[in-house]
Amino acid sequence: MVLHAAVATAQQRTPGPALDVLSYGFQLVLPDTGSAIAAQAVVVFRRAPWAPDTLALDLVGWTVDSVGAHGHGGTTPYARLSYAYDGARLAIALPPRESAAPENVSVFYHGTPRDGLIIRVDARGRRSAFGDNWPERARDWLPTVDSPADKAEVLWLVSAPRDWRVVANGRLARQGRSPDGRSWWAYEEHRPIPTYTMVVGAAPFTVSRHRPLVSAADTIPIEVWAYPEDSAWADSVPFRRVTEIVETLQRLVGPFPYEKLAHVESATRYGGMENSAAIFYAEQGYVARRMGEGVVRHETAHQWFGDAVTERDFHDLWLSEGFATYLDLVVGAALDGDSVLRRGMRDEALRYMSTRDVDRPVIDSSVTRLTELLNANSYNKGAWVLHMLRGLLGDSVFWRGIRDYYRSYRDSVVASRDFQRVMERASGRSLDWFFTQWLRQPGYPQLHVAWRGERGGRVTLEVRQIQADAWGRYALPAVPVEFLRDGHVVGRSAFDVRPQAAPQVVSIALDGVPDAIVVDPEGTLLMTARVQP
Ligand SMILES: [Zn+2]
Repeated sequence: MVLHAAVATAQQRTPGPALDVLSYGFQLVLPDTGSAIAAQAVVVFRRAPWAPDTLALDLVGWTVDSVGAHGHGGTTPYARLSYAYDGARLAIALPPRESAAPENVSVFYHGTPRDGLIIRVDARGRRSAFGDNWPERARDWLPTVDSPADKAEVLWLVSAPRDWRVVANGRLARQGRSPDGRSWWAYEEHRPIPTYTMVVGAAPFTVSRHRPLVSAADTIPIEVWAYPEDSAWADSVPFRRVTEIVETLQRLVGPFPYEKLAHVESATRYGGMENSAAIFYAEQGYVARRMGEGVVRHETAHQWFGDAVTERDFHDLWLSEGFATYLDLVVGAALDGDSVLRRGMRDEALRYMSTRDVDRPVIDSSVTRLTELLNANSYNKGAWVLHMLRGLLGDSVFWRGIRDYYRSYRDSVVASRDFQRVMERASGRSLDWFFTQWLRQPGYPQLHVAWRGERGGRVTLEVRQIQADAWGRYALPAVPVEFLRDGHVVGRSAFDVRPQAAPQVVSIALDGVPDAIVVDPEGTLLMTARVQP
């Protein structure tokens, strides 16, 4: 069982920076007892003529046994390479660059993972092994360029204890049993994915197959991997509609990005982790029977946004979490009715407004501890940015833009500006003001609306923005307002709020005199409004 430089046939892609990893091949032996691992990694990469002659890989806390390469694009015999390893960074001296062809290095290493690959005894006393990498824990078990900016294909060859089944990214290519009775599994993910989603999961699973996605081009299996005690419950409760969820997302966004989709009970520290083509969920939700469909919709949506379209820099995490949070509710509404979205967005707003995160912008470059980005800005406010953009542009322009964005950046990396550009192209409008205020300004608008009815039906509104100065002022085009008399709607209108501190006076003609007004009655904007007669 050797992975060799044949993986150098990785598909041609636009070259990235000086050094671009095209594929990883990882070979692991998962032990029958204990946590000691022996592993090999083959890294296939392309370097530009101006690239340094060192390949630096992230790898934390292992013993490196040897490093070597097949030279000249894999055509010459294997030769040892010299390297320096300080316990966190493996610097490999590369031979002189001979051509533009992809090059490779092999790293043989062993040790006991302290993080990243979790080998442990589960809630019911069984051993299992699960990768859990977000944000930069791939390096705790896999020698990688551990950055979302450098996506790559991944091939897995895993030897596991005899009663374990192994799941990983990509398509199951081969599977067998060695003479000693251990099982081995080969998976191939031929779409470039971020290192934070490169995982294997191994345990005595029960696997059930749900209705696959069938198209003219291929058939994509959808599977639920769970422990035997949880399997029937998992199939009938949280994963009952897995195929419908994927079909809904395909209709809204575009084709499912990968070769298969497995939903896996696991040891992830997160409630769910959107590993490409093999989503991991925390086992506690299964054991306590409290896991719902929401997390399944959220993680499934990440396959498109986060996995296939990946933020180049974690500070743009809203491009992943805001999308998944929003699409969870959009898919829920498509399956169960509009109230799912309406109620859900109200809850997202309340959650966001009740945190201290309101004092920070969504794109917060001051954050250095990446786990702090798992906050109400990335998730709840991120979802609101999309919801308001949809309100501003209308359904057909919004979804045309989303589909274009997915088509343009699938299997690639993005920044918030890329998304803005695509939505500007779809709408033919400049949206700089929108993205700047909602992503780079903290907080949200708090309106104070004083109103006065006049004889003949005219109503005058005096609108002020009363949020903290540090949050800045907001532009809100066409804020809906409803006029009531004796509890009945007697008129509807809308007014524009300009980004200014000074009060704005709006005069609206009505058929009758109202006794109450409601600003943004449908809750379409992330804001509060205090109304005063
Ligand atoms: Zn998420």
